[in-house]
Amino acid sequence: MAIENDSGRAAGPVVRRRKSGRTWEHVDVTRYKEEGSAVFRGMSRQVLFADPALQAELRYFEVQPDGFSTLERHVHAHAVLVLHGHGRCLVGTEVFDIGPHDLVSVPALTWHQFRAGPEEPLGFLCMVNARRDRPQLPSREDLEELRRQPQVAAFIAHQFQ
Ligand code: MN
Repeated sequence: MAIENDSGRAAGPVVRRRKSGRTWEHVDVTRYKEEGSAVFRGMSRQVLFADPALQAELRYFEVQPDGFSTLERHVHAHAVLVLHGHGRCLVGTEVFDIGPHDLVSVPALTWHQFRAGPEEPLGFLCMVNARRDRPQLPSREDLEELRRQPQVAAFIAHQFQ
């Protein structure tokens, strides 16, 4: 049972069920990022909503135990809702414990990173602009600056030399 969107392209089923595990049927599980120099571990991505008529996309990210997203910043903001699992996130120079149903706002041009705890995967929804700027990665100088905050230094310690 497919519906058509404004562009006439089949948009897929109206209701897509959660499969066993933590993915949705009829939604591809994609690479977290294209090849590049970004550092991350144990990440997968599903784009849940990306209709051309919407100006936002809703994605689901899953972070395997002890995995982490890329430390990055960009002009577009993120609206994140944790669905399951526990972990921590860095936003700016603060580190927060996060768990189910926590809402995380990542403002523009703010360094951020999500990390799963050791026990279970961390899954979260993330809403972003459909058209958005590319993430910036920290330069050596940026990392030096970030490390001046002890909590940030501890959070990023094992990813960068
Ligand atoms: Mn980001």
